[in-house]
Amino acid sequence: MDGNSPAWVRGVSRVAVLTGAGISTDSGIPDYRGPSGVWTRDPELAEIFNRERFVADPGVRRRYWRHIGGLYRADVRPNAAHRALAELEASGTAVRILTQNVDGLHQRAGSSPRKVLELHGTLATARCLRCGATEPTPQVLERVAAGADDPPCLKCGGTLQPAVVMFGQFLDSQVLSLAQNIARHSQLFLAVGTSLTVEPSAGLCAAAVECGATLVIVNRDPTPYDELATEIVREPIGTALPRICAALRSAAA
Ligand SMILES: [Zn+2]
Repeated sequence: MDGNSPAWVRGVSRVAVLTGAGISTDSGIPDYRGPSGVWTRDPELAEIFNRERFVADPGVRRRYWRHIGGLYRADVRPNAAHRALAELEASGTAVRILTQNVDGLHQRAGSSPRKVLELHGTLATARCLRCGATEPTPQVLERVAAGADDPPCLKCGGTLQPAVVMFGQFLDSQVLSLAQNIARHSQLFLAVGTSLTVEPSAGLCAAAVECGATLVIVNRDPTPYDELATEIVREPIGTALPRICAALRSAAA
């Protein structure tokens, strides 16, 4: 281990990583909730993520599918921070990722899908609100591109909704309780690119610290949990996370 590594990387074999929008902005995915986020600048756009409006209004669904099409651009790829976490897992450290993101970039970077818990669901699949049939979102988007601007369920004609948690919906209780277990059993809890203002996800930090984990926050702006943190890193995530993961790997070697 080099002399510049922080003391908290020593003896860590179980890492839990809570990731938010900030880890994906380098990949071209916009931050929605932040001070300069998409929803802050365009409250109208937030409306299309409201479950009630989505179900009731075909116009909202048309706008939603157009917007989602923009997130599936070919140039959206995992970045250095996603890759650093995947490499840390590959090196033998037990890494569990608890993500608020729905972009699937952790899995695409090489993190094991079963080690990634998607707290807010995933954009990768759409589900019929009437019969429960599922369809991969890229396939739905092909239908949108071909002219079906409010694509119906292929089985029953019902309304398709991406498998994400929308405004007005609660987090899956099983997913949340698993996330709490993972937080409590971690030795190091990294909170990366999240403002830690959205509960109940943010409370995972407190759960980890109560059970003895070291909390390290990597975020550009202050968070409500900064006082609990052993270290706060304001450096850009794209350089901070590869550096932290490299230090963890060499400390474990
Ligand atoms: Zn259906």
